[in-house]
Amino acid sequence: MEQKSTSKKFYELNMAERLSALGSEAELSDETLRALSGEDGLTAADADHMVENAIGTYALPLGIARNFVVNGRSVLVTMVIEEPSVIAGASFMAKLVRAGGGFTATADAPEMIGQMQILDVPDLERAAERLLSYKEELLHEAASIDPVLVRLGGGPRDLQVHQIASSPIGPFLVVHLIYDVRDAMGANTVNTALETLAPRVAAISGGRVHLRILSNLADHRLAKATCTVPLSELAFDHFSAESVRDGIIAAQAFAVADPYRAATHNKGIMNGVDAVVIATGNDWRAVEAGAHAYAARSGRYTSLSSWAKDKEGNLFGSLEMPMAVGIVGGATHVHPGAQAALKLMKVGSAAQLAEIIVSVGLAQNLAALRALATEGIQRGHMSLHARQVAIAAGASESQVNQLADQLVAEGTIRVDRAAEILEEWSQNPNGTPIQL
Ligand code: NAD
Repeated sequence: MEQKSTSKKFYELNMAERLSALGSEAELSDETLRALSGEDGLTAADADHMVENAIGTYALPLGIARNFVVNGRSVLVTMVIEEPSVIAGASFMAKLVRAGGGFTATADAPEMIGQMQILDVPDLERAAERLLSYKEELLHEAASIDPVLVRLGGGPRDLQVHQIASSPIGPFLVVHLIYDVRDAMGANTVNTALETLAPRVAAISGGRVHLRILSNLADHRLAKATCTVPLSELAFDHFSAESVRDGIIAAQAFAVADPYRAATHNKGIMNGVDAVVIATGNDWRAVEAGAHAYAARSGRYTSLSSWAKDKEGNLFGSLEMPMAVGIVGGATHVHPGAQAALKLMKVGSAAQLAEIIVSVGLAQNLAALRALATEGIQRGHMSLHARQVAIAAGASESQVNQLADQLVAEGTIRVDRAAEILEEWSQNPNGTPIQL
């Protein structure tokens, strides 16, 4: 799908124009567009079915990141996020990456890990051996709980046993059930399988099955994106392409070496990842937990991504992280906005969604590093931040832009100063910016 070039850029249109442009560009029905705009989004009645004690719904901004090419396909990415600059940053970096051929992304088979903790085992070694000798029978039983998944080519794949030789409560066993959940996130499926297997596992091991729960360290289900940014795309203002590239590589070294920096580096990645995870109704706490646990897998928390110079001197980036997301089940199924987001991105499988998400994470990482390694993060951030401050100070729609501009020009982006300016304007109606 070629992204249409209109005389006005997408960001220059008003919201109604953007929606209508999106409708024709992605050939979306009015119903899908209404779900995306929130007009026909999640209702209070839907919410009442989803959680306990519901009293309403809570809205967040939804925007479209443009210029993404993932595995040769143009994708309009739906992002839900309250933080300014994220969608603009992703779109801009996707444009630089597009000049180098776009993102190349892969996703592992959708295998989740379910865990069982087995206490009061008389002999760990013997119990582990016995459990492994019953593997086929246990996997067969686990398959019987979800014939739909088995029909779709999913189901249990493996059973592993780990021994915890000493702990404050004594030794215990941990069983890992590896389960292919196809296009689902899989938590319900895996938890049901674990609870079904528990009595048999207890009988075979001679112990007592305690916890039975999915692991969010979904390291059998990794997604990986790589990209090459041509050196020529990196120069801007007075920054040479080489200085931007080398600055990004130096910033990367900092994140690899230092967990204080790595936490913020990875947070920048999650700005992009979470925004798509939320837009598609997926469980962002699960993805967050998996990402940070994976970042600490060596025993020391470090960067999820890497940036280096390739043979031609271009900037090469890669990001690998667990990506437990689905396109069926959970809120993806119930939330009209999530369904519409999947339609807009033309996603046909959980793997394809994972590939888009990890590409957005890499783009977001690049946006942050490029800014940090050159002009600093605040310059790009401030004009959007100033708009939020203007709104918080009570500016009307016709005043927001001018007030934000004045705050940026003064270099004082604070709500108290914004309120003062509004007060000055109200004292002097001639000076009030009515038309913008
Ligand atoms: P689900 O149970 O709603 O849907 C999965 C089911 O859909 C499968 O079991 C299968 O029968 C069916 N299905 C139909 N078509 C399918 C296809 N193409 N691929 C795969 N399955 C298909 O959802 P789920 O993904 O098992 O559970 C996700 C939910 O569990 C999320 O809302 C999450 O928040 C929640 N949860 C998470 C955790 C955790 O992360 N630790 C724990 C408990 C619950």
